[in-house]
Amino acid sequence: RIVYVNGEYLPEEEAKISIFDRGFLFADGVYEVSTILDGKLVDNAGHLARLQRSLAELDIPAPCSMEEIETIQHTLIERNAIAAGSIYLQVTRGAEDRNFLWSEGLKPSLIMFTQSRGAKMDKVAEKGLDVISQPDIRWQRRDIKTVALLPASLAKRKAIAEGANDAWLVEDGMITEGTSNNAHIITKDGKLVTRALSNKILHGITRKAVLALAKEAGLTVEERSFSPDEVKNAAEAFVTSATMFVTPVVSFDGVKIGDGKPGPHTTRLRDLYVSFAKKSLS
Ligand code: PLP
Repeated sequence: RIVYVNGEYLPEEEAKISIFDRGFLFADGVYEVSTILDGKLVDNAGHLARLQRSLAELDIPAPCSMEEIETIQHTLIERNAIAAGSIYLQVTRGAEDRNFLWSEGLKPSLIMFTQSRGAKMDKVAEKGLDVISQPDIRWQRRDIKTVALLPASLAKRKAIAEGANDAWLVEDGMITEGTSNNAHIITKDGKLVTRALSNKILHGITRKAVLALAKEAGLTVEERSFSPDEVKNAAEAFVTSATMFVTPVVSFDGVKIGDGKPGPHTTRLRDLYVSFAKKSLS
């Protein structure tokens, strides 16, 4: 695989980052993942807009223009001949001798790599996910897409160890989001309920598109917090993310949701999102 590191396209074995990079030492960096379909990017403008916001919130200067980032993304897709998969990009504050306080004027690092998509994802969407609850032990700026993903990784590992597929995180008795996705339910009276945007969750690019599609399709959307009990009593549940699109959740903490199979609203929203994704390609 050819990867990108600070201006160079290299075989992955030859790519190097300083051991003093603040991304490595302090998790001082942000990232984005865009999905590749037909060799093009899904809703990439949304991801680059969020990248700019994450950088601004942390006072990290952009390593280059967003147009240059797009050019690098397309070059990597082409050089690795990826038809379906994803592209990861990461910007860190840069490298200097270890010190909590960084120097102004550091040169940010930019890396990117592609990943090809396995056939597994479609099977998961057909079957649906088993999800368990886990305490949300992350920091209070989850709206910034930082590389500090250890709490989410630990929750995911716990879910797998318990025989589930993923965890939904709980804070103050309410669901925040999934380990790497936004959480949604469809109530028995047919409303889509999803947590409102704040510092408590990542402002998902897929979430935004799916809520707009749901409204267009005539669903009532309620942006409010919901509890684990509401999940167990819901008609349907699903997650959204750039790589999972709309994926059904069929059980929560061992309790079947609805009849324990992907429900009609979720299936419809997935189809609508797939059509939207194809139209958004760039
Ligand atoms: N929430 C968290 C914590 C995430 O890590 C992600 C994606 O990685 C999402 C939500 C979904 O965001 P998006 O739809 O922009 O991929």
